[in-house]
Amino acid sequence: MKTIAVLTSGGDAPGMNAAIRAVVRTGCENGARVLGIRRGYAGLMQGDMYEMNLRSVSDIIHRGGTMLYSARSKEFCTEAGMQKAIDVCKDAGIEGIVVIGGDGSFRGARDLSLRGINCVGVPGTIDNDIACCDYTIGYDTCLNTIMDMVDRIRDTTESHDRCFIVEVMGRRAGYLALNAGIAVGATSILIPEMEFSIERDIIERMRRTQKTGKEHFIIVVAEGVNEKLVAQGINGVSALAKYVEHNLGVESRATVLGHVQRGGSPSCKDRVVASQMGSYAAHLLLNGIGNRVVAMQKEAILDYDIFEALNMTKSIDLSLYDTAMEISI
Ligand code: ATP
Repeated sequence: MKTIAVLTSGGDAPGMNAAIRAVVRTGCENGARVLGIRRGYAGLMQGDMYEMNLRSVSDIIHRGGTMLYSARSKEFCTEAGMQKAIDVCKDAGIEGIVVIGGDGSFRGARDLSLRGINCVGVPGTIDNDIACCDYTIGYDTCLNTIMDMVDRIRDTTESHDRCFIVEVMGRRAGYLALNAGIAVGATSILIPEMEFSIERDIIERMRRTQKTGKEHFIIVVAEGVNEKLVAQGINGVSALAKYVEHNLGVESRATVLGHVQRGGSPSCKDRVVASQMGSYAAHLLLNGIGNRVVAMQKEAILDYDIFEALNMTKSIDLSLYDTAMEISI
């Protein structure tokens, strides 16, 4: 009987539970023993795991977060930590691990694969910032959460003729800010991938729209642009709100959406994609194939060598930005 394991690592994302469920059920239905490792690589090093069965994953497909908990571990990145993890795998008879997480987690999966423990990565991260994938688990739910939150903010923005600067997640990638910005009709959108000028891209745009009679404004800002804001003398979204108010006379407020973006029941798309990816990953391990990352490209599920996947780059579709700027005026 084969033994495979599953863990979640890095930031949690809605849909991780659906992926765990798919791994466990695919494993069990194909005659494997499936172990659930708690708290990512930290739990792996401590041997914190238990045997799962078909019923262990009942009633989780609709829940956000991860039933296996997640963690980040510096110790795992050291040679001693890695050796601890390998010893635990050998003792428990683990032949392969499905690692659900982001780029950092895949680096750990690559290192384990290099040392003889087959690993398959499943992209679970709200940021959609994994180069080999068009889509990552959690992204759709997060986008919809942001849209819902900003729609609520819009109600009060409109009632008071205000400007709201809304900071959303995305340290290195602007997928969330750009797509949510379009969906909520933001007047300006700032993302890490683009150079911007506060004067040209916010103040001037607002001034133009004011002339056409617009009196309330939503500006969506990815958290990763702060360095570029600082370079223009503005430290953070609260300072940006004050600057807008001072320059345009529009009462302005800043809201940082924060961790509310990570939670909540996964969307239909996240549940379906996570189920497909989890099952695909388990089949790879059951066939003795490791060192792969499962990806979605043009709606198809496929897999890449982890080294290749980690060396790939992807760029955001800036034509989407142009469209947003043309119509949110
Ligand atoms: P998110 O996109 O949510 O940040 P992530 O998987 O990229 O998810 P990280 O914190 O970067 O999150 O990585 C998760 C864990 O993977 C780390 O805590 C560490 O244990 C392991 N890891 C990260 N980078 C490496 C590396 N270069 N080598 C080995 N292990 C790594």
